[in-house]
Amino acid sequence: MNDQPTTTDNPLLEDWRGPFGVPPFGRVTAEHFMPAYDRAFAEHDAEIAAIAGAAAAPTFQNTIEAMERAGRTLDRVGSVFGVLAGAHTNDALLAVEREISPRRARHWNGILLNEPLFRRIDALWQRRDTLDLNAEQARVLERYYLMFKRAGAALDANARKRLAEIGERLATLGTTFSQNVLADEQAYALVLESEDDLAGLPDFVRQAARAAATERGLAGKHAITLSRSSVEPFLQFSGRRELREKIFRAWIARGDGGGKTDNKAIIAEILALRAERARLLGYDSFSHYRLDDAMAKTPQAVRDLLERVWKPARSRALADRDAMQALIQEEGGNFKLAGWDWRYYAEKLRKRQCDIDESEIKPYFQLHHIVEAAFYTAYKLFGLSFERRSDIAGWHPDVEAWEVRSADGSHCGLFFGDYFARSSKRSGAWMTSLRDQEKLAGDIRPLIVNVMNFSKGGNGEPTLLSFDDARTLFHEFGHALHGLLSDVTYPMVAGTSVLTDWVELPSQLYEHWLERPEILSRFAVHYRTGRAIPDDLMKRLIAARTFNQGFATVEYVACALLDLELHLMPSVERFDVNAFEEMALARIGMPAEIAMRHRPTQFAHLFSGGGYASAYYSYMWSEVLDADAFAAFEETGNIFDPATAKSLHDYVYAAGGARDPEALYTAFRGRLPTPDALLKRRGLSDTPAAAG
Ligand SMILES: [Zn+2]
Repeated sequence: MNDQPTTTDNPLLEDWRGPFGVPPFGRVTAEHFMPAYDRAFAEHDAEIAAIAGAAAAPTFQNTIEAMERAGRTLDRVGSVFGVLAGAHTNDALLAVEREISPRRARHWNGILLNEPLFRRIDALWQRRDTLDLNAEQARVLERYYLMFKRAGAALDANARKRLAEIGERLATLGTTFSQNVLADEQAYALVLESEDDLAGLPDFVRQAARAAATERGLAGKHAITLSRSSVEPFLQFSGRRELREKIFRAWIARGDGGGKTDNKAIIAEILALRAERARLLGYDSFSHYRLDDAMAKTPQAVRDLLERVWKPARSRALADRDAMQALIQEEGGNFKLAGWDWRYYAEKLRKRQCDIDESEIKPYFQLHHIVEAAFYTAYKLFGLSFERRSDIAGWHPDVEAWEVRSADGSHCGLFFGDYFARSSKRSGAWMTSLRDQEKLAGDIRPLIVNVMNFSKGGNGEPTLLSFDDARTLFHEFGHALHGLLSDVTYPMVAGTSVLTDWVELPSQLYEHWLERPEILSRFAVHYRTGRAIPDDLMKRLIAARTFNQGFATVEYVACALLDLELHLMPSVERFDVNAFEEMALARIGMPAEIAMRHRPTQFAHLFSGGGYASAYYSYMWSEVLDADAFAAFEETGNIFDPATAKSLHDYVYAAGGARDPEALYTAFRGRLPTPDALLKRRGLSDTPAAAG
């Protein structure tokens, strides 16, 4: 490379010399991205051309390692853009996103379909047993070989050209899909005008609604938005049935409203292109293609697991439905339970059956206590410590940063928490990174990010979480630890760069600790009185864990089954996604009173980028593993058992994708699990056969 100093007025292209090399967010604006991307693409192209055109015979070092070292500017620019596009976007950034996503796809197609480059990788792969590679290097070579092969590098020129077109078009469609959902979410707010409209809403819901109104320029009013953490509590508590119906309909109609932001035609085109891509690559369907490179391996294995869980979950949900209908009659209501009633009557039923109510629990779940609880768990398991660094600025004033230290006191990485909902943020919760761990370019420590959408407490009050919110926080923090504890050499297999049906193990497993008295009695502290959660309330809370699991399982498994069906179609023409949804749900006997957790037109997992396309089942696949993995601690009688924690660290959290996941799990547990622990955990192992 050259030795010229990076004198430029573009902060994205500077050496980031602040603490820990954090990007200078304060100086980055939307105009900086296109020129930075231009330079990053050109730099990466030149590096790749040098590797592909090298006169020397291919070696692991001059080909694979060289590719691992290439594209560093692109990584940096792309990760900053990714964080802003998701967590704090604006019209200018949305425009950059529309322009950059097909260009990024074109750039990667140019690499993945580069014939001389693939010939070098293929040559290494053919003689992999003679290369004297260590286990991680062998895995990295395999991942490269598969990545190129699965992109179509081994096909003829015509097929490669068509695959490139498909990839580029899919990138544009994915961006449009997610921008449409965001636009629908930004455009809507249910404004509550009078005290009457607030009927049934506990204090914390009112406060959050006031804060949401203020954020949208409606100071002094109350607003419910289409963010999950705003809608769900409203549906749970509002005594105004017609308002519940109104917002529920708006919520499930995101992307399905006709007009400019409608996603139906986009879905049809995405599915057609995916099916065509799979055909070109020699697979029966996109699902067959996608699952070939997953732990599950085949659509049948996925279906077997989902159907095993579906039947008892549906029976449980129908029994709960009948109990709620009886409650409606008992109260003198003369209507049939509908989708917008489920959470409201489930809350009443929970009060009655489990003697527990959300507004009694919530005051004990202050956001920052739960953050501390997640940190404490990481300390008890892995010896990590966390120090707040208010000198490190993020991409929005609400973003907080912590320095993470390992048990021996050495620097482990930085952790950023961006917890509050705002209209510049996409809905949902996720983990991402600004820099991944690796050792190829020196001892590089990671910069890890958690983004959530919690409703901010109003007027200086602390932010209170529901138990579900707290679980989400632990979940994403589990992903964060997967990034922070990563201990590999090559970026290709760092942290969460693993198979999709393995990636939810570290996150879902972490949720188990939240539900334990060792954590709750210490961190669930009432925000007014400062008293720890009473023993009796905690016991009831834990006992209520399996309550409404029929509903939760049904709304999830329906999505996973529909995802599978959508991607099993061998070809797609004149596709009507709403008709398909209706038919698929009828076939599995979806209870009319339950909506899918994500309807197709808002199902970002599948259609925005497509990371979970034909892979939404991954959560349940990983849950088979996490339920069994936590039992390893329980069997020792100590949920922080040091020997089990050490092995969990070595084979799961630190291992990244450096080894095959089945081998990793077997190293941790001595065997592979069955779904029994999962069914037991969801309280579904003793459900009688379905009655209707
Ligand atoms: Zn996750």
